[in-house]
Amino acid sequence: MQHLLNYINGELVNAHSQQFMDNYNPATGKVYSLIPDSDEKDVEDAYQAAKSAFFAWKNTSNEDRFIILNRIAELIDLNNDELAKAESIDQGKPHWLAKNEMIRSAQNFRFFATAAMQFSSESHHMEGHAVNYTLRQPIGVVACISPWNLPLYLFSWKIAPALAAGNCVVAKPSEITPMTAFMLSKICQEAGLPKGVLNIIHGIGPKVGSTLVSHPHIKAVSFTGGTSTGKHIASIAAPMFKKLSLELGGKNPSIVFADCDFEKAVKTTVQSSFLNQGEICLCGSRILIERSIYDKFKEALIQEVKQLKVGNPLDKDTKVGAIVSQLHYDKVLSYLQLAKEEGGNILTGGEAIHLEGDLANGWYIAPTVIENLAYDCRTNTEEIFGPVVTITPFDSEEEALQMANCTEYGLASIIWTQDITRAHNLAAQIQSGIVWINCWLLRDLRTPFGGVKNSGVGREGGWEAMKFFTEPKNVCIKL
Ligand code: NAD
Repeated sequence: MQHLLNYINGELVNAHSQQFMDNYNPATGKVYSLIPDSDEKDVEDAYQAAKSAFFAWKNTSNEDRFIILNRIAELIDLNNDELAKAESIDQGKPHWLAKNEMIRSAQNFRFFATAAMQFSSESHHMEGHAVNYTLRQPIGVVACISPWNLPLYLFSWKIAPALAAGNCVVAKPSEITPMTAFMLSKICQEAGLPKGVLNIIHGIGPKVGSTLVSHPHIKAVSFTGGTSTGKHIASIAAPMFKKLSLELGGKNPSIVFADCDFEKAVKTTVQSSFLNQGEICLCGSRILIERSIYDKFKEALIQEVKQLKVGNPLDKDTKVGAIVSQLHYDKVLSYLQLAKEEGGNILTGGEAIHLEGDLANGWYIAPTVIENLAYDCRTNTEEIFGPVVTITPFDSEEEALQMANCTEYGLASIIWTQDITRAHNLAAQIQSGIVWINCWLLRDLRTPFGGVKNSGVGREGGWEAMKFFTEPKNVCIKL
């Protein structure tokens, strides 16, 4: 059985506790590797290593930082298949999807490698009196904490800008999907990343994560995960005056108008509902459909959904893999029960799927479409984060907007219409950090990424991330 190790000061080391935790393969429901059960001592070692490395790293030239981060990107690309297979086994996602995510993980490093070269700051002239310029300096040692749904993709999305901006990092991947973060440690060694610049500590949130969040000398925390964890982190970090970036849960609407490009809307809605088993914070789990095409859209959607093959994540033709953990599987199934209790009519799916052989104990749930629920019931307002969507008819643009904005979340929204004026109007009024019009998951890494309301605080991506990971200092010179 493979034992994963922490990455501290450039070395792969065991946790002080010498204890390991089970790591499951969701496809089989079996333990297949072991993770260090780290604690505050390991976090302190990592912090000390990062602190020692900081002076040299912040003074490393932008070009040298670019070269090293770019090398990490190249190594991720070179190892795409091995990483993708590992991600698929660890998370339950289809292998083909994991391959795309590994491409994106490399892009994250490459994108922020170039940001290191191009980042600049402002100057403000006071006519004839003075000139101000802004120094944007790295913060020091920062913490990056990531979730299990897009493991390396989201881990690298935080680490890359933090390093590009000249910080040293103590990072914690999800204990549910630690494998590709462990593999990244080895890639960083091979790429020649100086010792201590990046440290990766495995273990559970309440031990490793909370030690990072409450550490007196770690002054910035970039977190992606659930809204309740984010709330808890904010309650500890805010009184310590830390910089906080919180990317939290979502319950995103897909709004389909009668004038949409019908086929494109149906096909993309299947994707935005069920890609990665619906375990993407950006999935559109509430499909709002203009009443005049409700029945037609419903039929077309169900026909497509029924064709999605649920199966072994490593099989080429699998479209929906396994649910990430027993705990999450139970949670999703409990929402199917709730939907029935709330009067929902299950149009397809609605149950666990039991596969055979090695996969008999894996966690599989059929892609599920439910109708006949009130737009503001619990099923329609709480994050399920699985292969479960609801469909609801609406009669007017105003009603669609009211339904779209009725949850406490505000991460993303998707609008399907050919009416450009309506699209712009809705985009301006909808309460979400991201709006996709006639598309989904189209990402330009320069754009601001994040949510409003309980979906988070702050933005990632492009200069937003570089600004988060630097402290602006105004220097005023009297002329
Ligand atoms: P989670 O909040 O349970 O865990 C996220 C990370 O936080 C893990 O590494 C975990 O170990 C750590 N953690 C847990 N308790 C902690 C604590 N007390 N202190 C510090 N760290 C702690 O979330 P999850 O179940 O891994 O991920 C699913 C959630 O993430 C969903 O709500 C999803 O919407 C959200 N998500 C949001 C985005 C986004 O960009 N907004 C992206 C992906 C996932």
